[in-house]
Amino acid sequence: MDDVIIVGGSFAGLAAALNLGRARRQVTIVDTGLPRNRYASNAHGLLGHDGKPPSEILAEARAQLAPYETVRFLKARAASASGGADDFAILTDDGETLRARRLLLSYGIADQFPDIEGFAECWGKSVIHCPYCHGFEYAGQSWGLVYSTPMSLHAPLLYSDWTDKVTLFTDGNDIPEAERSKLDKRGVKLVEGKVISIQHEGGQLSSVTTADGAVTMLDALFAHPRIRPSADLHTQLGLETVETPFGIAVQVDDKQKTSRNGIYAAGDLVSPMHSLTIAIYTGAMAGVNAQQSMLV
Ligand SMILES: Cc1cc2nc3c(=O)[nH]c(=O)nc-3n(C[C@H](O)[C@H](O)[C@H](O)COP(=O)(O)OP(=O)(O)OC[C@H]3O[C@@H](n4cnc5c(N)ncnc54)[C@H](O)[C@@H]3O)c2cc1C
Repeated sequence: MDDVIIVGGSFAGLAAALNLGRARRQVTIVDTGLPRNRYASNAHGLLGHDGKPPSEILAEARAQLAPYETVRFLKARAASASGGADDFAILTDDGETLRARRLLLSYGIADQFPDIEGFAECWGKSVIHCPYCHGFEYAGQSWGLVYSTPMSLHAPLLYSDWTDKVTLFTDGNDIPEAERSKLDKRGVKLVEGKVISIQHEGGQLSSVTTADGAVTMLDALFAHPRIRPSADLHTQLGLETVETPFGIAVQVDDKQKTSRNGIYAAGDLVSPMHSLTIAIYTGAMAGVNAQQSMLV
């Protein structure tokens, strides 16, 4: 039996594994190899790794884990989870049953692409979600934003450190008059109607078309798709969740402990703030707290 099974071996899961391996704990990491930022050619904002391809950062992390003999990496999907503290079971879709005293869930989230032609092809390239991650590369250029929640109305103020050329696509939502005049004072252009397609070449967009046929020229489009956890083990295990503006997250306390004894969670799966730095921090904390929970 392992001390800990980690489901999801990307930024959060590998940070947990590193701390557990250094504490000489027996760990199995189960991973399908599909990190959320795989669409982006470069990752930004991670100290020491700024501008590197995400796959390179993860390969380096896995290589640094390799000498820790108590850590095993298994390329498989965790299909089901059961049991309780000191005797959890994970069944992989290869039919292997793994057992451990603790579970650590770091399987991330999946973005639900809207029904906009060209969206998927541009995602992570010129359709982006976070100015801190990819805004610098488009500084001073023409940005668009697809309205998703009332938070979208505050985004142009945030974006002003990068550009003052912002178009807000209402995407069929009603924007109150008071908010329209605030946006107008800020110089934000408003385009009404549903966004139906993005014109692009190899993922690099040039314009956005709305239902009335209007075409808006742009360099980058910001969008915040709905999200959902990448697996349903938290549901199988009956864990509490919380609502975030874009979908649910697994509920954890300040030790990354979920609502059930012996189960820890980390990364995008638990945080409304999605970044590599936060995923690594929460992963490391989950690993340390899982380890400390086994001390007698
Ligand atoms: C397009 C894009 C670009 C981004 N760029 C940046 C950036 O430049 N800088 C930045 O700080 N942040 C960026 N982010 C955010 C960043 O990608 C996430 O915050 C980070 O990947 C979260 O790490 P994680 O370990 O929680 O989840 P993930 O990296 O998504 O990893 C989850 C892992 O779990 C695995 N998995 C899922 N289900 C199962 C299962 N059932 N069994 C086994 N394994 C499973 C997956 O294959 C994956 O390897 C970007 C996000 C997107 C969408």
